[in-house]
Amino acid sequence: MIEPKKIIRTKRSTIALIVDTNGELIVRAPYYASDDEIESLVAQKQVWIEQKTVERRKQKEERPALQVKEGEFISYLGKECPIYQDKEKSGYFDGEAFHLPKSGNLKIPLSEWYKRQAHKILKERVSIYAEKMGVAPTGVSITSAKTRWGSCSGRNHLNFSWHLIMCPLDVVDYVVVHELCHIWHKDHSRDFWNSVGEYDREYKAHEQYLKDNRRFMEII
Ligand SMILES: [Zn+2]
Repeated sequence: MIEPKKIIRTKRSTIALIVDTNGELIVRAPYYASDDEIESLVAQKQVWIEQKTVERRKQKEERPALQVKEGEFISYLGKECPIYQDKEKSGYFDGEAFHLPKSGNLKIPLSEWYKRQAHKILKERVSIYAEKMGVAPTGVSITSAKTRWGSCSGRNHLNFSWHLIMCPLDVVDYVVVHELCHIWHKDHSRDFWNSVGEYDREYKAHEQYLKDNRRFMEII
């Protein structure tokens, strides 16, 4: 029997089973759903779960290096958005998909768009968490770093790679919390991780997500 890797409880009203891109079973459930209820649904859906697990693992092995072109998908806040090359000059994002020029280097307009969103999103998330935690970074910059998602300088200036916003918002928030905690602790000591855990109880899963998706930084 395949057991859930993680059960996420939210304000939703139904139980959903998700087999993620790593082939792990994730359950999303309402706060009031009992463990028995979840367990019996998981048992009932075993055949489907097994099929999906095999499928996802196979897809993962076969996944070719991503290219920026028509027919490909690119992640924005954890959602895979299709790329269409159906515009003459400039492109845009319609909330679901990217519409980019038919010719020319697509990486430039796409990375410019991501950078602008990253500015907006990260400044907002930093101010939310800085207030919650009662800390004050000296500034926030968005970089094109391809080796690190974020950093905090000795003078408490935060840097984030715009690639970070390819990740789901809860992972973005984890990196924000991580860097803000460096204002208190300039190391990765036990005290540091305790502070991170106070503001992000799922930080281990989020850290794993970043490890599994470093390819986001390689695409553009
Ligand atoms: Zn760190």
